[in-house]
Amino acid sequence: MTTAISLSAQAYRIPTDAPEGDGTLAWSATTIVVVWASVDGTTGLGYTYGPADIVPLIDELLAPCLSDVDPDDVRTAWLAMQRGLRNAGRPGLAGMALAAVDCALWDLKARRYGLPLFRLLGAARDSVPVYGSGGFTTYDADRQHAQLSRWVFEDGIPRVKIKIGESDGSREDRDIERIRAARRTIGTAELFVDANGGYSRKQAARVMRCVEDEDVRWFEEPVSSDDLEGLGQVRAAVRADVAAGEYGYDLVYFTRMVPYVDCLQIDVTRCGGITEFQRAAAVAAGAGLEVSAHCAPQQHLAVALATPNLRHDEWFHDHVRIESMLFDGVRAATGGELRADPSADGNGLTFKHDEAQRWRVA
Ligand SMILES: [Mg+2]
Repeated sequence: MTTAISLSAQAYRIPTDAPEGDGTLAWSATTIVVVWASVDGTTGLGYTYGPADIVPLIDELLAPCLSDVDPDDVRTAWLAMQRGLRNAGRPGLAGMALAAVDCALWDLKARRYGLPLFRLLGAARDSVPVYGSGGFTTYDADRQHAQLSRWVFEDGIPRVKIKIGESDGSREDRDIERIRAARRTIGTAELFVDANGGYSRKQAARVMRCVEDEDVRWFEEPVSSDDLEGLGQVRAAVRADVAAGEYGYDLVYFTRMVPYVDCLQIDVTRCGGITEFQRAAAVAAGAGLEVSAHCAPQQHLAVALATPNLRHDEWFHDHVRIESMLFDGVRAATGGELRADPSADGNGLTFKHDEAQRWRVA
């Protein structure tokens, strides 16, 4: 006898602590949609970062798909939800809705069995390396220096990333100066950059040649992630590893991208949840690539621990801040490694309902 899974969802909008921007977008607040999946008094929790319009998608399109599904059969639930989304379009908001619910269902199952989620999934490692991610184009030199030096010298995180490609690639000189300033700040730590698709193909290669002495190791979205050939050309022209994949919503997307990158990025809050993250990581592994988890570090922790070909997890300033404001049980990245709490069931997170009320989207 199967007990029906009940879903509920709510959006919260949290202002940034300073204006944030990258090569192709600027923002002053971030919306998180939190999902609770319950059965017989046990509740699992998942979330995604996306518009509040994801909430009615979950209520109207996904909740009815779960009426006959055994809560242990998470992949059956996932298939039913994928089918239910067909006419709404799988990428975009519908994909984020699917991702948040899938994460909540895995968490629910782990809690029903009294297991940490990384144990239910089957850990492949005991810690996850992280890189500090921020260095927004909107920061001045002092703010960038303070953020990067805190990560490297106070938290012991040996790799950090800044945003470049400012104003759709029209501020090359400032990008180059900020890369040089970042290197002066962090000493021998690894330096990553992310252009968020702001450059053209040759421009991306030219900027990297200008900063050759700064030993940039990671060049994320040097050109638009839709320009797969361009990613491949930049990859051949620069020493840094070229990475992309944060806008991937399904396996076909990741399969197409794999030949053009050095490391595949996957976002569990967009790609269809833990279920699809694991399959996307397998697609990368089959091509001899590692994967990097994009944003939402606390929700990635369990699946990252269970991914053999994982390189690192993004310790994204905005989400690190929001997750510690909204959840108890968040893990620290001290020493540059995240570890799960083996004594906590599920993903180890508890939502702070009272504190979150002020950010609730009506
Ligand atoms: Mg990025």
